[in-house]
Amino acid sequence: MRLQTGHVWVYRSDVLSADAIAPGSLVAVTDQRGKPLGTALYSSTSQIAIRLISPDPVGDFSALLRERIANAVAYRQSLVRDTDAYRVIFSEADFLPGLIVDRYNDVLSLQILTQGMDANPVRETVISTLAEHLHPASMVERTDTRVRDLESLPARSSALLYGEKSATTFTMKGVRFQFDALEGQKTGAFLDQRENYAAAASYAKGEALDVFCYQGGFALHIAPHCSQVTGVDSSRPALEVADHNAALNGREIEWIEANAFDLLKDYSSAKRQYDTIVLDPPAFAKTKRDLDAALRGYKELNLRALKMLRPGGILVTCSCSYHVSQGSFLEMLGASSLDAHKSLRLIEVRGQAKDHPVLLNIPETAYLKCAIATVS
Ligand code: SAH
Repeated sequence: MRLQTGHVWVYRSDVLSADAIAPGSLVAVTDQRGKPLGTALYSSTSQIAIRLISPDPVGDFSALLRERIANAVAYRQSLVRDTDAYRVIFSEADFLPGLIVDRYNDVLSLQILTQGMDANPVRETVISTLAEHLHPASMVERTDTRVRDLESLPARSSALLYGEKSATTFTMKGVRFQFDALEGQKTGAFLDQRENYAAAASYAKGEALDVFCYQGGFALHIAPHCSQVTGVDSSRPALEVADHNAALNGREIEWIEANAFDLLKDYSSAKRQYDTIVLDPPAFAKTKRDLDAALRGYKELNLRALKMLRPGGILVTCSCSYHVSQGSFLEMLGASSLDAHKSLRLIEVRGQAKDHPVLLNIPETAYLKCAIATVS
């Protein structure tokens, strides 16, 4: 069973009995013979019925939460550099299943994903402990209707929990971004790519294309090293923020609102050439069933990008689909290079930034792939 392999989830179909347990409560978990397996948070509706929070009995849950939060903060203090924006708490990877907290300079953005974390004494302890450690000017809770539905949590819209501001600017490696916790997708920015922005910047050169640029994370980081940068995204609101970010940093970047598949097809047929191309599409494989279609999508993008790269050019290519393993991603990339008649040298294979920890026994915590390669 999964708990014995170090995982923390138990699916509802594997639960033998859970009689009269209140949604979101703390439960003692035993195996079928009654042997204790630890303490978990129980969800009455999610497919993941049980998320283990400790292999031992838990007496004082508030104290445990405070200790976990303090440890998560200390972990970032020891590993995160050159930024005032990073993920403070990453759910299971910080032994706080169902809780995600991001810091953007003086604004904290919280996401509560489970009944256990939404239960009232828990919420209050989380909020007060975060305030104690990080002293933000404000805290915003970002809610996702789909997630709240899955957990049968009462509908609530994103809102300030305390403080007055939801907007701020944050700085990663000297690059400034605007942020509004009550706008945007995900929790605002893609903090998991932060270290990959810096890696991309160390190889980028010449004429560059940032495809799926969102608010300009890669484009703005590589701009100082390139003669010209174009960012492409289908979302106009994202590009408006990207343009504002460019102005904040005194950069001239061309933003194009387009479907990336169409644009890459047109540009590669027109034999456009670039020295650097970044591909950072949304997750194509949301479930295991989407895997083949997802790989075809990645292949089409990568094939077209490779065709447009000049000799010595740099490809930065990403996938944030957990269901696409690093192995199959690299295999797809190899097949794309064969079809594009280009040979590809892998410079780096990277993952998510260190503030998004990966627990080896919880494979779902590792989802981001970022390969940097050069064509010849
Ligand atoms: N590289 C960005 C994150 C990209 S997220 C960063 O580091 O911040 C994926 C982006 O793809 C989103 O901004 C979304 O608007 C965009 N997108 C999704 N489908 C698209 C499509 N078919 N064509 C162009 N952009 C698309």
